[in-house]
Amino acid sequence: MSDSPKAWLSDGMMNLLVDYYTEVPFRPYGSGATRENVLPVLRELDLGYICIYAKGHSGYTTWESSLKTRHVMLEQDMPRFFREVTRETGTKLVLYYSGLLDGIAGLRHPEWRMLHQDDSEQRYFDDFAFLTSYANCPHSGYFDEWVAVHLREMIEGYDPDGIWVDGDWPSSCYCARCQAVFREEMGYAEPWSDVQRRPEFAAEYTKFWNRVTARWRERFNRLVKSLKPDCAYSAGNISPRCEFLTPFDWRSGDFFSPGFFLLHDMARMMRWYDTLGVPYDAYVCDTSFTHVRKHVRSRTKTLDRMLQEAATVAANGGAVGYWTYPNGDGAFVPSRMEKAKRVRSFLREREDVFLHAQSAHWTALVVTDPATPTFGGANVEGAHKALAALHRSPELMDETGVSADMPHALVVVPEQAVMDEDTAKRLVAYAERGGRLLTSGATLNSSVLRAALGVTEVRAGAVQDGHVLLKTHDEPTGVDAPWDQVIGGEELYPLYLSWDQFNPEARHLPNNWPMHGEIDEAHPEPAGFPAAITRRVGQGSIAHICTAIFDRYKTLGDPQMLRWLREIVDALDPQPYFRTDAPTWVDVSLRRKNGMLLIHFVNQNPGRDVARLGTDDTWVDEIPVVGPYRCDIRLPKSPEAVTLEPGGEPTDWHYADEVLTVVLPKLWIHACVKIK
Ligand SMILES: [Zn+2]
Repeated sequence: MSDSPKAWLSDGMMNLLVDYYTEVPFRPYGSGATRENVLPVLRELDLGYICIYAKGHSGYTTWESSLKTRHVMLEQDMPRFFREVTRETGTKLVLYYSGLLDGIAGLRHPEWRMLHQDDSEQRYFDDFAFLTSYANCPHSGYFDEWVAVHLREMIEGYDPDGIWVDGDWPSSCYCARCQAVFREEMGYAEPWSDVQRRPEFAAEYTKFWNRVTARWRERFNRLVKSLKPDCAYSAGNISPRCEFLTPFDWRSGDFFSPGFFLLHDMARMMRWYDTLGVPYDAYVCDTSFTHVRKHVRSRTKTLDRMLQEAATVAANGGAVGYWTYPNGDGAFVPSRMEKAKRVRSFLREREDVFLHAQSAHWTALVVTDPATPTFGGANVEGAHKALAALHRSPELMDETGVSADMPHALVVVPEQAVMDEDTAKRLVAYAERGGRLLTSGATLNSSVLRAALGVTEVRAGAVQDGHVLLKTHDEPTGVDAPWDQVIGGEELYPLYLSWDQFNPEARHLPNNWPMHGEIDEAHPEPAGFPAAITRRVGQGSIAHICTAIFDRYKTLGDPQMLRWLREIVDALDPQPYFRTDAPTWVDVSLRRKNGMLLIHFVNQNPGRDVARLGTDDTWVDEIPVVGPYRCDIRLPKSPEAVTLEPGGEPTDWHYADEVLTVVLPKLWIHACVKIK
């Protein structure tokens, strides 16, 4: 095995994140982390790496630092202990380090604290009465006088294999230092109060802050590499857009559920990280993450749910970071480590189909707006959610991935208000060469795309709430969102109105009651303009949906919307490379490895009634066994072998007219059809 970070990171199937907060000052820190407690776990789990705390957001460290930041009840030098046991077990050691957040640094150096736009200080984690965690400005002395001292001690003292940075996510800083750098970069000379009144201020400051934090990470990594060239670097949950590509050795994030992330969110981020050219992993927590619900005590999640999360990550090429909370004294919790072992053996059985595979590059979801938030925003998240439900195995990329000869059968650009002209031209060239391009809503801001579609005018938000009559279903699709009146292009679907849309008294009805927003199905009222348009360009075609449908689908997940999207995708790509009769909640990933096609199926069914608003009962247990499912794959020639993984069992298959038909007899949480 090579020792370069990218090599050992991509060889790892499962990692372990020990989330042992240094924030809590009143418990002995580390006395429970003994050889007897830790060594058997490391031996059995055979990890890619283990990540332990060096410094938390509080600023307390798990070693004796010359900055006098050690945890007040530190019982043992934790990096030293873990370096010893990881050497004995051949495990890589990654140290967790809180980046811009550091409570002690901000306490001792008030001048370093980051400021909000109203000059108030940026504080985090007010949940803990004994703690204030300050965000510290990257333009202050924080890096040279604080972070650099810690990094030197950590790397020279403990020889870690990697550093994982968390807490680089505070909001923009508006202190005098940052104002000065911003002015200089923008060439603004007027008083700050006038600068803030510029119409472009908010957008420009967001982009400025992105540049500042990117430079901060580059500087951090440069110091790490100068101290130890093969020490791996990553920071959690940083936008995968091209502006942020350097300096990562791997991409990573803590995807906590049920607090924030659903399974499709984990799948989306893995499918985005997959296009960045470095290994990637996701931390999935064995404890229910309920910190936004103050009245809900956190408990251990079920094994079935952990396997669902792990399969979702691994089927999309990510290493699984098993994320656990130890006892207050740092001892691993026996029942949670048993669960970790079960997850490990589940992954071990499937390593051959999970590791070192690549995306099949079939469907691309393109993000062109530089203001896109870290996880994509509702438009991108909704587009992924819909395309995954349609089993299109989408991969995500920003505009740098777009080329005229990209291999994808379908490219989707969901409601991207900003797209540079060159990218738009490349997308049109892709369509002209036989590609199929689907756009929606604000993506039509691009004059190049408008011209390609033959659109002469757009009246944004001409109607609120509109309906579409489907070709494959008797139930119409209603989308309660602003619809654009698009003039030009060829109508793909006409738009209809709610039947008393213009009855002035309808304003007295609350928007959300069921007697509101119906379409008269027998005599629908035309809006007089299209709901979607299309145009053939060269060898291919473009279709455009005249509303922010993906944004709405992210929030609502309405099956009516999905049916319409399925019709549009089928119209664009009538003979798809892959098709299955599996339900929408079976997530499909098409991957390639050594000339083989791997079709991963992950059962994301929660197995229970979830149709209730505002509940705290979010447990997932008892995932049902489902199937059989049929799938059809268009292949130029008959395959040599088709097997079901794990296990390598031969399966019944049939090849005729360049279509391979395989039946997956049953599916519990994960199965893979391997085609040679
Ligand atoms: Zn600042």
